[in-house]
Amino acid sequence: MSDPFALRPPAVPLGLPARRLRRKSTVHHRPPVSDRPRDGGPLGSIRRTWSPASSGQKRTNFQGESAARPAASGNAQNPHVSRYGMQATAKGLLPEMRSLQRCATALARRPDGSYANGVQVWATTRPRRDGAPASVAYFRGLQHCGSPWSCPVCAARIAERRRQEVQQAIDAALARGNGVYLVTLTFPHRLEQPVGELRDKMAKATGRLRSGRRYKELKNCFGMFGEIRALEVTRSGFNGWHLHQHVLIFTQHPLPDLTRFRRKLYVLWATACKKAGLNLPSYQHGVDVQGATHAAAYVAKWGFADELGKAHWKRAAGDHYTPWELLARATAGDRDAGERFREYALAFKGKRQLYWTKGLCDALGLAAEISDQACMDLVPAGAEQPQLLLVMDVNTWHLVCYHEKRDEVLAVARDGDVRELKLYLNRLRSACFSAGGQRYGPREDWEL
Ligand SMILES: [Zn+2]
Repeated sequence: MSDPFALRPPAVPLGLPARRLRRKSTVHHRPPVSDRPRDGGPLGSIRRTWSPASSGQKRTNFQGESAARPAASGNAQNPHVSRYGMQATAKGLLPEMRSLQRCATALARRPDGSYANGVQVWATTRPRRDGAPASVAYFRGLQHCGSPWSCPVCAARIAERRRQEVQQAIDAALARGNGVYLVTLTFPHRLEQPVGELRDKMAKATGRLRSGRRYKELKNCFGMFGEIRALEVTRSGFNGWHLHQHVLIFTQHPLPDLTRFRRKLYVLWATACKKAGLNLPSYQHGVDVQGATHAAAYVAKWGFADELGKAHWKRAAGDHYTPWELLARATAGDRDAGERFREYALAFKGKRQLYWTKGLCDALGLAAEISDQACMDLVPAGAEQPQLLLVMDVNTWHLVCYHEKRDEVLAVARDGDVRELKLYLNRLRSACFSAGGQRYGPREDWEL
């Protein structure tokens, strides 16, 4: 019987500049020939038949040695470093999500239905939060799923855009002399409750809260003219799924008595929870209201917008894990974390993550928010003169995806050095087999 891994890439070191690589170069063992997708088709099909991370396949680096999977904590703290690696894990965990399977691997389609000729690699710099310039590289010309729940690649870009929009709303409201408050609504839960059940009951409770006459009275009483709502989910090993809704409330004037507002809101929330079949939340934990002074401090360091728009990226406290931490753990080989991530991703598929009440954009003089999918085509915020480094041909892109080198390509591209990038890709072409078992060799027009 033939060795299914006979076409494994040879032990050829790529000689990558170590300083440019933020994690070890890894390549998956190749699947049996019968399981391999056919070469030459649309790129979205290349991962349909096997799932490297979730199936527990052993990984090797280019030298043929076992390569340690990245530590879960490192992934969670630096989600950008291993974003594509985590996406590969998510693809393995969620084979039924077809748009996710094609995300950031399949070439974009032109208006006439044909596929683009190649993948563009762009590099630019943009200011970090502390003001220092940071190098950024990104691909263009790819399909994206636009899922803020299950795709770490799309979620990061969407969250970045949403953070800007929320920040603009806060700035505009404060400039107009309005009040801005962050309300957090939650409820007690048990370990055995499925996330789908909690999601449905919470949706019922929040719907009941806002549809009642008494909530309208509360709005009139405190001059509330708009809300931005975001749903956050964490997982605890002791208490199970923890859902809470952050609500940014805009009032005509700053509220003089927050305790009174919180007390009234708690009564309505507790009633809504009871009617929706949830356990009664306590006054201490069920409703939290952060004041304008507190909010202003958060705004100054971007934390306030982070709390709302990037809810899933932040690190949860104590033994609570965010979905991305679960995915990072799954990437590190934790099967239970993978199952939990899958449960969560299926439960929230297609749900809206961030909701602005009607008329809020107009009231604050802002442009209407763009869709999740449209966020994917935007240039990174604050980017200065993005530079097109090269257009990668389809064969090279096949290799990059098949051997999960997307993170590495961007790591090399971040320096904006076209020569270095071409050298890296030519080494990859020389060292690796394609999905169809071909080896391409270096591109002569890239020889320098
Ligand atoms: Zn995606």
